[in-house]
Amino acid sequence: MTEYFLGLPLDWWQPIVWGLPFVIWTVAWVVLGLIVGSFLNVVIHRLPRNESVVQPPSHCPNCNQRIPLKDNLPVFSWLWLKGRCRFCATPISPRYLGVEVLTAIIFLVTWLRFGAEQPWVAFALCVLFAGFIAATFIDLEHLIIPDEITLGGTVVGFLLSIAIPALHGAETAAQSLKQSGLGILIGAGVVYAVLRGGKLLFGRQRIPLEGTQRVVFHETGVILPKEEIPYEELFYRASDAIRLQGQRIELADRCYWNQPVELRLAAQPARIRIGAEELPAEGEPYLSVETDRIELPREAMGLGDVKFMAAIGAFLGWQATVFSLFFSAVLGTLVALVLIALGRQKWSGRLGYGPYLAMAALVWAWGGKTWFQAWFGGAAGPF
Ligand SMILES: [Zn+2]
Repeated sequence: MTEYFLGLPLDWWQPIVWGLPFVIWTVAWVVLGLIVGSFLNVVIHRLPRNESVVQPPSHCPNCNQRIPLKDNLPVFSWLWLKGRCRFCATPISPRYLGVEVLTAIIFLVTWLRFGAEQPWVAFALCVLFAGFIAATFIDLEHLIIPDEITLGGTVVGFLLSIAIPALHGAETAAQSLKQSGLGILIGAGVVYAVLRGGKLLFGRQRIPLEGTQRVVFHETGVILPKEEIPYEELFYRASDAIRLQGQRIELADRCYWNQPVELRLAAQPARIRIGAEELPAEGEPYLSVETDRIELPREAMGLGDVKFMAAIGAFLGWQATVFSLFFSAVLGTLVALVLIALGRQKWSGRLGYGPYLAMAALVWAWGGKTWFQAWFGGAAGPF
């Protein structure tokens, strides 16, 4: 039966979701995406710097002026101010605009895909995808994904799985809880196995330094000009080595000039080679090297990715983690090939692995899951 309003059929107003027509929610969802994107910009900037994401209110990093509400509207303010601070005209990174637009698009697609039949699933997925966006942009800049996102995301995913069993295609909270728990264990497990077992994509990473800089090795990690990396993220196998061309090398009790330096801290015994001389690492509490080039045995993945995959599993189940592991490698290879074709292959060693995992999991949630279940004759697996 078609209803009419002012002589117009109301059919296109269908379906009704949460008591209102789908189209109204669609608009609301895009606006929500813009607002969330604006908040994610704050998270991306402040979280890796250990600043609060609520206090103080937004201010210009250059002139410190508090940003009035009218200049803080998503997308529109950036366009209106032509990407500059109103007070000091310092350029504001186009990343702010990009994150807001990207969040709105991802929210919109997720809503169109799931909103009509499973609006709460759309909601839960948008929570996950918001985390993906924050993780991706933080990883691109800092090569880490903060625990607030990975461990926090795991807890939130587990709780949402209990509240919204449909997230795992389950009928009851108990089934959904089992799916989420398995997702966490298997997700963390597969990435950890890859970390311990071998290299997936890129074995080492060269860090270019701006001129000659001091790199300090202390008991638990190496301090670079821009970051500190714990040894446990660098050394897995006896062959893993940090190499530097040292201009001035200081140990606790002596000093060398212009020698290559190599550290193998997972070797038995752990050792340091300076020029032709080899020392046990055991007796050296301190090593400082002035250098303009350092090469790290960094894996494509790190411990942050173990926790990140746990969060993906908590939301999407264990099948998603296995898919994401393999599909992210495919995506990583494609990106590496494109970078090589563009003559930019050195970039590939500087990309974190988190963004690929996020992209792969997004593909799974949007469509991959359905395709897979169709291919395997509707069987979702042994669980
Ligand atoms: Zn300013």
